[in-house]
Amino acid sequence: MKTAVGTGSGEERPGRDLLESRPGCNWPSLLLLLLPFRRLDPEPIRSIKALTAQRDAFIRRKKLIPSQLRVLHDKVVLPCLEWHNSKHPDDEYEAAPGVVTRYTTYRDNTLWSHGNFVARRKRSGFFSFLPAPRTLFFFELRRTNGVVEVTASIPLDEPVTEAYTFFGFPLGWGTRRNGQADCVCKTCYRRFHVPYFGLKRTCICEDSKVESVCKMCYLQYNTVHPIRGGFLFGQ
Ligand SMILES: [Zn+2]
Ligand SMILES: [Zn+2]
Repeated sequence: MKTAVGTGSGEERPGRDLLESRPGCNWPSLLLLLLPFRRLDPEPIRSIKALTAQRDAFIRRKKLIPSQLRVLHDKVVLPCLEWHNSKHPDDEYEAAPGVVTRYTTYRDNTLWSHGNFVARRKRSGFFSFLPAPRTLFFFELRRTNGVVEVTASIPLDEPVTEAYTFFGFPLGWGTRRNGQADCVCKTCYRRFHVPYFGLKRTCICEDSKVESVCKMCYLQYNTVHPIRGGFLFGQ
């Protein structure tokens, strides 16, 4: 007759004998319980908000390879500079080494992108061979029915200290300012750092109304925006 734990029945059960050599002390099961990384719930049900945050974090972490960066550079920087230069023929800019950032949001059948790139003022005359200082640009792109158009391309009053490479060698160790907590007084355009929702700031001017510079990017994306606006989505 078979028993659940039978050591004297004469049956050959090599695997179980090892496990059950000491009745009442199941070491492998005990170890499983004590493992620090054991997941009690392998597939927890997550809310849409948590899933969206997870996807956004994944996109933010994703590093682009150099060829992808070049494509992004050509698709974003060149049309944006063309847009800016066509509106300011006496103040033209050209592309300069630096990181291009772009963040997108889908709203009402339209894909909106905000981001930054680096450019420098075109020089003419005797000293035109000397490169002008680099400037951070803000851009806004709108994509509707497969057609992408530039809706803003604005030079910012921001020093560009980020590192860039020259023939593959990194130059400097600078970092770019993160604009995701930027808020502004809508009366005098004074800038405020508001790192979380609900934190109230008041400006010294009367009638002050401190709000996020961009509702799309606030506490989400590190884009630096023009304080006085000039873009269509998120103001
Ligand atoms: Zn103010
Ligand atoms: Zn924005």
